[in-house]
Amino acid sequence: MTKPAVLAAAPFPPFTMAPLEAAFAVHRLWEGLDDRAAGSIRALATNTLFGRLGAEVMDRLPALEIIANFGVGYDNIDVAAAAARGVVVTNTPGVLDEEVADLTLGLLLATIRRIPQAERHLRAGLWTKPDGAFPLSPTLRGRRVGILGLGAIGKAVARRLEGFGVAIAYHGRTRQDGVAYPWYPSALALAEAVDVLVVVVPGGAATAGLVDAAVLRALGPQGVLVNVARGSVVDEAALIAALQDGTILAAGLDVYAREPQVPAALVAQDNAVLLPHIGSGSVATRTAMGQLMIDNLATWFAQGRALTPVPETPGLPG
Ligand code: NDP
Repeated sequence: MTKPAVLAAAPFPPFTMAPLEAAFAVHRLWEGLDDRAAGSIRALATNTLFGRLGAEVMDRLPALEIIANFGVGYDNIDVAAAAARGVVVTNTPGVLDEEVADLTLGLLLATIRRIPQAERHLRAGLWTKPDGAFPLSPTLRGRRVGILGLGAIGKAVARRLEGFGVAIAYHGRTRQDGVAYPWYPSALALAEAVDVLVVVVPGGAATAGLVDAAVLRALGPQGVLVNVARGSVVDEAALIAALQDGTILAAGLDVYAREPQVPAALVAQDNAVLLPHIGSGSVATRTAMGQLMIDNLATWFAQGRALTPVPETPGLPG
C-alpha cells in the first residue's frame, strides 16, 4: 500500500523525523515542492518555526485533509482558512503541561532571585573582589501571583505555586467552577490585585497586546512579569519602557514578538531574564509531542478521525 503523502513544513528533530518518514511519504517544503507533488499532499506537519501557515499554503495543496501541529499553541495556523476548506487542525495538548509549568517556575524564581545575574557575577570573578558579594535580591515571599490564563498549563503552574505558599489569583474570560482562587474580570483588574503576573493564555488576535502599558503600570514598581505564552500577548515596546523606567521591577520571558529576534533594548536590560522559547524543550517532552503529532496523522489515515483536533476545526467522523 502506498504511504500517504505528508508535507513537513519545517525540519523536526531527528526523533520525530525518523518515525514520520517510516510511516508516511514525507516531502520537505524547505527543499521545494513542484505542483505534481503538491497535488498529492494529504497532510501537513508543522510547527511555530515555520511561521504563519495561511490560506496561500493551503491553496497550493488541493488534496489537503489535515494539518498536524507540533505544539499546543496553534496561533501560527489560520484555523478559519483550514475550517473553510474542511481541513482538520490538530495540536499536542496534555503531553507538555508539567514540563512547561516546571520551566515557568524556574523562570519565575530566576527572575525574582536574579539567579542568572548571580551566576554571571561568579563566572566573571567578581565574588573574590573586595565587596564582591552579590547584591541582595527581591523575594517571592509574601507575593500574590496572578495567572493570566488558568488553562492546562496555568493550572499546573498554580499547583506548583501552592507548594511555594504564595497567594494565587487568575483571569480568564470566564470564572471557572470548582476553582477556589479569586477570579478577576480583566487583565487590568488582575494586575491591580497582584505583584507577579504569569502569562499563559493562547496567542492570536484575541489576546494580542492584552498585557499593555496600563497592565504593567498596575503591576507596579515591585511587579514581576513572566511570559511563557506568546510574544504577541505582551506589548513589547511598552514592556521595554516599563523595565527601563522602573514601572515594573523585572521580567522573565520565554517568548517574543518576532522570534528568534529579541530587541537589543530588551537584551540590554539587567532586570530581564531571557530564554529562547524552551518551555517544552526537553528531549522527553519534545519526543512525546512529535509522537502525538504522528499519532494524529496515523489515526486520521487509518480511522478518519483525529485524536486531538482543535475546537475551531471540524471533528469529522469519530
Ligand atoms: P488552554 O487552552 O488549556 O488554556 C488557556 C487559558 O487561557 C484558558 O484558561 C482560557 O480561559 C484563557 N484564555 C483564552 N483566551 C483568553 C482571552 N482572550 N483572554 C483571557 N484569557 C483567555 O491552553 P494551555 O494552557 O495548554 O496553553 C496556553 C498557551 O501556552 C498555548 O496556547 C501556547 O501559546 C503557550 N505555550 C507556550 C509554550 C512555551 O514553550 N513557552 C509551550 C506550550 C504552550 P477562558 O476560556 O475562560 O478565557
